[in-house]
Amino acid sequence: MTPSPALRPATAAELVDLVMQAAAQGTPLECHAGGSKRNVGNPARRAQPVDLGAFAGIVDYEPSELVLTVRPATPLAEVEALLAANGQMLAFEPWDAGALFSGTTGKATIGGTVGAGIAGPRRLTAGGARDHLLGFHAVSGRGEAFKAGGKVVKNVTGYDLAKLMAGSWGQLAIMTELSLKVLPAPRSTATVVIEGLSPEQAVRTMSAAVGSQVSPVAAAYLPAQGGRPSQTCLRLEGFAESVALRRDQLAAMVATEGLATACHDDAPATLWQDIREAAPLRESETLWRAHLSPSRGAALAEALDRAGADWLLDWAGGLAWIGAPAGADIRALVAAEGGHAMLMRGPDHVRSSTPIRHPEAPALAGLSQRVRRAFDPAGILDPERWG
Ligand SMILES: Cc1cc2nc3c(=O)[nH]c(=O)nc-3n(C[C@H](O)[C@H](O)[C@H](O)COP(=O)(O)OP(=O)(O)OC[C@H]3O[C@@H](n4cnc5c(N)ncnc54)[C@H](O)[C@@H]3O)c2cc1C
Repeated sequence: MTPSPALRPATAAELVDLVMQAAAQGTPLECHAGGSKRNVGNPARRAQPVDLGAFAGIVDYEPSELVLTVRPATPLAEVEALLAANGQMLAFEPWDAGALFSGTTGKATIGGTVGAGIAGPRRLTAGGARDHLLGFHAVSGRGEAFKAGGKVVKNVTGYDLAKLMAGSWGQLAIMTELSLKVLPAPRSTATVVIEGLSPEQAVRTMSAAVGSQVSPVAAAYLPAQGGRPSQTCLRLEGFAESVALRRDQLAAMVATEGLATACHDDAPATLWQDIREAAPLRESETLWRAHLSPSRGAALAEALDRAGADWLLDWAGGLAWIGAPAGADIRALVAAEGGHAMLMRGPDHVRSSTPIRHPEAPALAGLSQRVRRAFDPAGILDPERWG
């Protein structure tokens, strides 16, 4: 089936008209900006594409206020470059998911990043996209333009709709403007890599470090591969003196535990990029992302080894990226450890026959459906995304 050419609303008023008409006619819409994550989900969607490319550009940025207001189709790279030039950053460590999901980079936008709830290793301590979205303007599936939240960190009026919008994958409303909390970039960073730990030792070590004065901002585990031993990676950030002190504390902690002799801090610059983009699993036939309690991360890793799947752990064991051949029942292994798994990438025949998202418990599914109906009663916002 040839997809219809994309509609390109130029203003919020045009977007309102377009959505109202679609709602009246029951025409499903799929909104995108860069489109780098369109391959996540059911491949056979029949929605009318809506290109939000006109909603781009920085609206307001006051570095001293630590707030950035931006339109959703602004490239993520442009946002990050602007912040970096002012010594600031998006603390949830968003990343360009294009390489993983569609094979192309450079298309990721800030709207798509927040809409998909994309966050990197620092999410462990800094929170996710939802924790940094202060407010937004949007058009609901009813065709109503509305705004929620504000441009200040201390804002307690009304429902906290930002928490719903971040990670809603364009199924609740179409954002036309976002206000994000930004933070000063760290003055200094160091990564300590401890080699040769088992998954169980690694999860225990990451958990102990996170709960100590060492305060790593990120903690991940790469299993042994080829001739390389396993790597437990802990990232420290802050003022140089503080980072140096905490690096010594971490080395002492590792030595006391008698865990490993190799503990060094000359990690390659690409290490964290590879972890957040699951680069070691890029060639796998299917790619899954599992959330679970960090304390169950090691047990899941062992089950995945037994099943012949490849994996890496982030968020101190609370996030597993899993690469496996099509047909491997990864979801069952994750569920057995109390987690839930989302199929992020795979061939069309797998994505059209496997539920993309972990089945929700009935009460939660009912709640999700009621929330969606409230924003989009006609069910026109990308209704087939998850199959
Ligand atoms: C109490 C509770 C119960 C949950 N139950 C389930 C469940 O039954 N099944 C499940 O798959 N996930 C469930 N989740 C997970 C949740 O939906 C997110 O995937 C998870 O919390 C990480 O979200 P994030 O946006 O912070 O992470 P991110 O990594 O930033 O984003 C992951 C993205 O995956 C998408 N996603 C995946 N699954 C779901 C889902 N079921 N509903 C909405 N969005 C989803 C979201 O768009 C989310 O943005 C539950 C979370 C909580 C707190």
